[in-house]
Amino acid sequence: MVEIVDVHKSYGSGTVLDGVDLIVHPGEVTVLIGPSGAGKSTLLRVINHLEKADRGVVLVGGELIGYRRVGKHLRELREREVLRQRTGIGFVFQDFNLFANLTVLENVAEAPRSAQGRPASEVYPLARRLLERVGLADKADAHPRRLSGGQQQRVAIARALALEPKLLLFDEPTSALDPELVGEVLDVMKSLAAAGTTMIVVTHEMGFAREVADKVVFMADGRIVEQGLPSQVLRNPAHERTRAFLAKIL
Ligand code: ATP
Ligand code: MG
Repeated sequence: MVEIVDVHKSYGSGTVLDGVDLIVHPGEVTVLIGPSGAGKSTLLRVINHLEKADRGVVLVGGELIGYRRVGKHLRELREREVLRQRTGIGFVFQDFNLFANLTVLENVAEAPRSAQGRPASEVYPLARRLLERVGLADKADAHPRRLSGGQQQRVAIARALALEPKLLLFDEPTSALDPELVGEVLDVMKSLAAAGTTMIVVTHEMGFAREVADKVVFMADGRIVEQGLPSQVLRNPAHERTRAFLAKIL
């Protein structure tokens, strides 16, 4: 589903991604861990077109992402392509990013309405089904500010699902939540995983990683230091760097 080959990214003189290779198979859950500044968010942003790789190749569902060498006359075409590809990838952020002036239902319906131009008669029932899926059917008409952080994040997940993405990216989805609200968001993510959703999740929730991940990837200094089954990487890491990181967070 995702193939990343030798991806490099720098900001000025700072190298943020330094030759990343990663394969994610359809239906797999990949948990990405590593210290602050490792390049985890940048890698997700490259996969979702929010940043361009300086070098290397990113394929999602067999399609090249962020292809640079397109003539200027094709720019408009390319921009449309970027939009189309981006709608195939759902992104859930740490801080929810809901539209404050829209109701919960409207938040979920917004993308299929505006990006796909689908009629309200189709989009609102879809949005209600998605809210049901994240356990928030009764909050459809509320505004986000009336919801707890955990509820807001579940709305954000429903919103990310609204375009039926082939891939879901999560960047520390529970880091901004009070501890007692983390579980409800992880439960929704577990149910998505059980339904076969392909996901890449940056998180420090090692319980989730152990239970749900097909693969744990440890990154540091813009590189993948090691990857493997959760039982391998979390219990029996091969690299000192991984051991030191795990000792700090566990
Ligand atoms: P954290 O765990 O703190 O979220 P991370 O692994 O997600 O860290 P990134 O956010 O990918 O790390 O950042 C990697 C490095 O790239 C950091 O040193 C950061 O300062 C730098 N960086 C990220 N975005 C930019 C930017 N737009 N311009 C300049 N430097 C950036
Ligand atoms: Mg980050």
